[in-house]
Amino acid sequence: MIQTRALTYRYASGPHLMFPDVDVAQGAVLLLTGPSGCGKSTWLALAAGLATPASGEMTVAEQRLGALNNIAADAWRARSIGFLPQKLHLSAALNVQQNLALAQWACGQPEDLVRIGAALTALGVHDLARRKPSQLSGGQAQRVALARAVLMQPQVILADEPTASLDDASAAAAVGLLLETARTQGATLVIATHDARVAALIPRGNNGQSGFQPLNLLPQKL
Ligand code: ADP
Ligand code: MG
Repeated sequence: MIQTRALTYRYASGPHLMFPDVDVAQGAVLLLTGPSGCGKSTWLALAAGLATPASGEMTVAEQRLGALNNIAADAWRARSIGFLPQKLHLSAALNVQQNLALAQWACGQPEDLVRIGAALTALGVHDLARRKPSQLSGGQAQRVALARAVLMQPQVILADEPTASLDDASAAAAVGLLLETARTQGATLVIATHDARVAALIPRGNNGQSGFQPLNLLPQKL
Protein backbone atom coordinates (compact mmCIF):
# COMPACT_ATOMS: atom_id res chain seq x y z
CA MET A 1 0.00 0.00 0.00
CA ILE A 2 1.23 3.46 -0.84
CA GLN A 3 -0.44 6.77 -0.05
CA THR A 4 0.91 10.25 -0.60
CA ARG A 5 -0.53 13.66 0.29
CA ALA A 6 0.82 16.98 -0.97
CA LEU A 7 4.30 15.51 -1.28
CA THR A 8 7.14 17.84 -2.25
CA TYR A 9 10.89 17.54 -2.37
CA ARG A 10 13.52 20.23 -2.60
CA TYR A 11 17.06 19.64 -3.81
CA ALA A 12 19.52 21.91 -2.03
CA SER A 13 20.87 23.20 -5.34
CA GLY A 14 18.09 22.07 -7.63
CA PRO A 15 14.39 22.09 -8.32
CA HIS A 16 11.49 22.06 -5.88
CA LEU A 17 9.43 19.06 -6.99
CA MET A 18 5.69 18.66 -6.30
CA PHE A 19 4.01 15.30 -6.66
CA PRO A 20 0.35 14.49 -7.29
CA ASP A 21 -1.39 12.44 -4.56
CA VAL A 22 -1.62 8.69 -5.04
CA ASP A 23 -3.47 5.84 -3.34
CA VAL A 24 -2.13 2.46 -4.41
CA ALA A 25 -3.75 -0.65 -2.91
CA GLN A 26 -1.61 -3.52 -1.67
CA GLY A 27 -0.78 -5.78 -4.62
CA ALA A 28 -1.56 -3.15 -7.25
CA VAL A 29 0.76 -1.74 -9.89
CA LEU A 30 1.72 1.94 -10.15
CA LEU A 31 3.29 3.02 -13.42
CA LEU A 32 5.20 6.23 -12.81
CA THR A 33 5.88 7.92 -16.13
CA GLY A 34 7.00 11.28 -17.46
CA PRO A 35 9.94 12.82 -19.24
CA SER A 36 13.48 12.61 -18.03
CA GLY A 37 14.01 14.97 -15.09
CA CYS A 38 10.36 15.12 -13.96
CA GLY A 39 11.14 13.48 -10.62
CA LYS A 40 10.52 9.74 -11.00
CA SER A 41 13.74 8.60 -9.34
CA THR A 42 13.25 11.20 -6.61
CA TRP A 43 9.75 9.83 -5.95
CA LEU A 44 11.21 6.32 -5.60
CA ALA A 45 13.87 7.58 -3.19
CA LEU A 46 11.12 9.18 -1.10
CA ALA A 47 9.06 5.96 -1.15
CA ALA A 48 12.10 3.99 0.00
CA GLY A 49 12.71 6.43 2.83
CA LEU A 50 16.07 7.35 1.31
CA ALA A 51 15.10 11.00 0.95
CA THR A 52 13.06 13.23 3.23
CA PRO A 53 10.19 15.28 1.80
CA ALA A 54 10.23 19.06 2.11
CA SER A 55 6.54 18.85 2.98
CA GLY A 56 3.60 16.50 2.73
CA GLU A 57 3.09 12.92 3.83
CA MET A 58 3.80 9.48 2.52
CA THR A 59 2.76 6.09 3.89
CA VAL A 60 4.45 3.05 2.39
CA ALA A 61 4.06 -0.58 3.45
CA GLU A 62 2.00 0.48 6.48
CA GLN A 63 4.71 2.86 7.64
CA ARG A 64 4.23 6.60 7.80
CA LEU A 65 7.57 7.88 6.60
CA GLY A 66 9.07 10.64 8.65
CA ALA A 67 8.00 8.88 11.84
CA LEU A 68 11.18 6.78 11.86
CA ASN A 69 14.69 7.60 12.99
CA ASN A 70 17.55 6.57 10.68
CA ILE A 71 18.15 3.21 12.32
CA ALA A 72 14.48 2.26 12.27
CA ALA A 73 14.20 3.49 8.69
CA ASP A 74 17.07 1.26 7.58
CA ALA A 75 15.50 -1.76 9.28
CA TRP A 76 12.09 -0.98 7.80
CA ARG A 77 13.55 -0.56 4.30
CA ALA A 78 15.51 -3.82 4.44
CA ARG A 79 12.35 -5.69 5.44
CA SER A 80 9.61 -3.92 3.51
CA ILE A 81 11.09 -2.48 0.33
CA GLY A 82 12.53 -4.33 -2.64
CA PHE A 83 14.50 -1.80 -4.66
CA LEU A 84 15.60 -2.51 -8.22
CA PRO A 85 17.73 0.56 -8.89
CA GLN A 86 18.61 1.74 -12.38
CA LYS A 87 22.26 1.11 -11.63
CA LEU A 88 22.10 -2.33 -10.03
CA HIS A 89 24.74 -1.83 -7.31
CA LEU A 90 25.73 -5.48 -7.04
CA SER A 91 28.94 -5.80 -5.07
CA ALA A 92 31.68 -6.65 -7.57
CA ALA A 93 33.74 -8.34 -4.85
CA LEU A 94 31.01 -10.84 -3.94
CA ASN A 95 29.48 -13.66 -5.92
CA VAL A 96 25.76 -13.79 -6.67
CA GLN A 97 24.89 -15.90 -3.63
CA GLN A 98 26.88 -13.61 -1.34
CA ASN A 99 25.22 -10.54 -2.83
CA LEU A 100 21.85 -11.99 -1.85
CA ALA A 101 23.14 -12.96 1.59
CA LEU A 102 23.90 -9.27 2.16
CA ALA A 103 20.17 -8.54 1.89
CA GLN A 104 19.49 -11.05 4.65
CA TRP A 105 22.25 -9.59 6.74
CA ALA A 106 20.73 -6.12 6.33
CA CYS A 107 17.53 -7.55 7.85
CA GLY A 108 19.44 -8.91 10.81
CA GLN A 109 18.84 -12.46 9.62
CA PRO A 110 21.40 -15.23 9.30
CA GLU A 111 22.44 -16.35 5.85
CA ASP A 112 19.81 -18.79 4.52
CA LEU A 113 21.18 -20.55 1.47
CA VAL A 114 17.95 -22.49 0.89
CA ARG A 115 15.98 -19.29 0.60
CA ILE A 116 18.63 -17.70 -1.60
CA GLY A 117 18.60 -20.77 -3.84
CA ALA A 118 14.82 -20.60 -4.13
CA ALA A 119 14.90 -16.91 -5.09
CA LEU A 120 17.58 -17.51 -7.73
CA THR A 121 15.61 -20.48 -9.09
CA ALA A 122 12.40 -18.42 -9.29
CA LEU A 123 14.25 -15.92 -11.49
CA GLY A 124 16.01 -18.54 -13.58
CA VAL A 125 19.56 -17.73 -12.46
CA HIS A 126 20.27 -20.48 -9.96
CA ASP A 127 23.19 -21.81 -12.01
CA LEU A 128 24.92 -18.41 -11.67
CA ALA A 129 25.10 -18.50 -7.86
CA ARG A 130 28.90 -18.65 -7.73
CA ARG A 131 29.63 -16.12 -10.44
CA LYS A 132 30.84 -12.60 -9.80
CA PRO A 133 28.70 -9.76 -11.23
CA SER A 134 31.41 -9.07 -13.85
CA GLN A 135 30.75 -12.56 -15.24
CA LEU A 136 27.05 -11.87 -15.88
CA SER A 137 25.29 -10.44 -18.92
CA GLY A 138 23.20 -7.31 -18.39
CA GLY A 139 19.98 -9.33 -18.35
CA GLN A 140 21.40 -11.89 -15.93
CA ALA A 141 22.65 -9.15 -13.61
CA GLN A 142 19.20 -7.56 -13.63
CA ARG A 143 17.59 -10.89 -12.69
CA VAL A 144 20.08 -11.31 -9.86
CA ALA A 145 19.34 -7.78 -8.63
CA LEU A 146 15.61 -8.54 -8.75
CA ALA A 147 16.16 -11.78 -6.83
CA ARG A 148 18.01 -9.74 -4.21
CA ALA A 149 15.26 -7.11 -4.13
CA VAL A 150 12.48 -9.64 -3.47
CA LEU A 151 14.44 -12.06 -1.28
CA MET A 152 12.90 -10.83 1.97
CA GLN A 153 9.42 -10.80 0.39
CA PRO A 154 8.96 -7.05 0.64
CA GLN A 155 5.49 -5.52 0.61
CA VAL A 156 6.57 -3.01 -2.00
CA ILE A 157 8.83 -3.42 -5.04
CA LEU A 158 10.30 -0.24 -6.59
CA ALA A 159 11.88 -0.54 -10.05
CA ASP A 160 13.71 2.40 -11.63
CA GLU A 161 13.86 2.31 -15.45
CA PRO A 162 13.94 -1.51 -15.58
CA THR A 163 13.83 -1.53 -19.40
CA ALA A 164 16.50 1.09 -20.05
CA SER A 165 18.74 0.00 -22.92
CA LEU A 166 16.88 -3.29 -23.44
CA ASP A 167 15.59 -4.44 -26.83
CA ASP A 168 11.84 -5.07 -27.22
CA ALA A 169 11.96 -8.76 -26.30
CA SER A 170 14.18 -8.21 -23.25
CA ALA A 171 12.05 -5.24 -22.13
CA ALA A 172 8.93 -7.41 -22.30
CA ALA A 173 10.71 -10.15 -20.36
CA ALA A 174 11.90 -7.72 -17.67
CA VAL A 175 8.44 -6.22 -17.14
CA GLY A 176 6.86 -9.68 -17.22
CA LEU A 177 9.27 -10.85 -14.55
CA LEU A 178 8.51 -7.87 -12.31
CA LEU A 179 4.74 -8.38 -12.66
CA GLU A 180 4.98 -12.11 -12.04
CA THR A 181 7.24 -11.69 -9.02
CA ALA A 182 5.01 -9.00 -7.50
CA ARG A 183 1.88 -11.09 -8.15
CA THR A 184 3.40 -14.23 -6.60
CA GLN A 185 4.46 -12.33 -3.48
CA GLY A 186 1.38 -10.13 -3.23
CA ALA A 187 3.65 -7.07 -3.39
CA THR A 188 2.74 -3.61 -4.58
CA LEU A 189 4.83 -2.81 -7.65
CA VAL A 190 6.01 0.62 -8.78
CA ILE A 191 7.70 0.89 -12.17
CA ALA A 192 9.25 4.29 -12.88
CA THR A 193 10.03 4.73 -16.55
CA HIS A 194 10.25 7.17 -19.41
CA ASP A 195 10.05 4.18 -21.78
CA ALA A 196 6.78 4.46 -23.71
CA ARG A 197 6.82 0.71 -24.42
CA VAL A 198 6.21 -0.27 -20.81
CA ALA A 199 2.55 0.78 -20.48
CA ALA A 200 1.52 -1.67 -23.21
CA LEU A 201 3.33 -4.51 -21.42
CA ILE A 202 1.14 -4.29 -18.31
CA PRO A 203 -2.06 -6.31 -18.63
CA ARG A 204 -5.36 -4.65 -17.58
CA GLY A 205 -8.65 -6.14 -16.53
CA ASN A 206 -9.65 -9.40 -14.96
CA ASN A 207 -6.60 -11.49 -15.58
CA GLY A 208 -4.23 -8.63 -14.89
CA GLN A 209 -2.80 -7.45 -11.60
CA SER A 210 -5.29 -6.61 -8.84
CA GLY A 211 -5.12 -2.95 -9.82
CA PHE A 212 -3.28 -0.78 -12.29
CA GLN A 213 -2.70 2.91 -11.97
CA PRO A 214 -0.77 5.25 -14.22
CA LEU A 215 0.72 8.41 -12.72
CA ASN A 216 2.21 10.80 -15.22
CA LEU A 217 4.56 13.35 -13.69
CA LEU A 218 4.76 16.53 -15.68
CA PRO A 219 7.95 18.48 -16.21
CA GLN A 220 8.09 20.86 -13.27
CA LYS A 221 10.20 23.59 -11.85
CA LEU A 222 9.69 26.18 -9.15
P1 ADP B 1 13.72 11.39 -13.41
O1 ADP B 1 14.06 10.14 -12.66
O2 ADP B 1 12.27 11.54 -13.71
O3 ADP B 1 14.54 11.53 -14.65
P2 ADP B 1 14.95 12.74 -11.14
O4 ADP B 1 14.10 12.40 -9.98
O5 ADP B 1 16.24 12.00 -11.30
O6 ADP B 1 14.08 12.65 -12.49
O7 ADP B 1 15.30 14.28 -11.10
C1 ADP B 1 14.28 15.26 -10.93
C2 ADP B 1 14.87 16.63 -11.01
O8 ADP B 1 15.75 16.84 -9.92
C3 ADP B 1 15.69 16.89 -12.27
O9 ADP B 1 15.47 18.21 -12.66
C4 ADP B 1 17.12 16.69 -11.80
O10 ADP B 1 17.98 17.46 -12.57
C5 ADP B 1 17.05 17.17 -10.38
N1 ADP B 1 18.03 16.49 -9.52
C6 ADP B 1 18.18 15.16 -9.37
N2 ADP B 1 19.15 14.87 -8.49
C7 ADP B 1 19.63 16.06 -8.06
C8 ADP B 1 20.66 16.45 -7.15
N3 ADP B 1 21.36 15.55 -6.46
N4 ADP B 1 20.87 17.79 -6.95
C9 ADP B 1 20.14 18.72 -7.61
N5 ADP B 1 19.16 18.41 -8.48
C10 ADP B 1 18.90 17.11 -8.72
MG1 MG C 1 15.25 8.55 -13.12
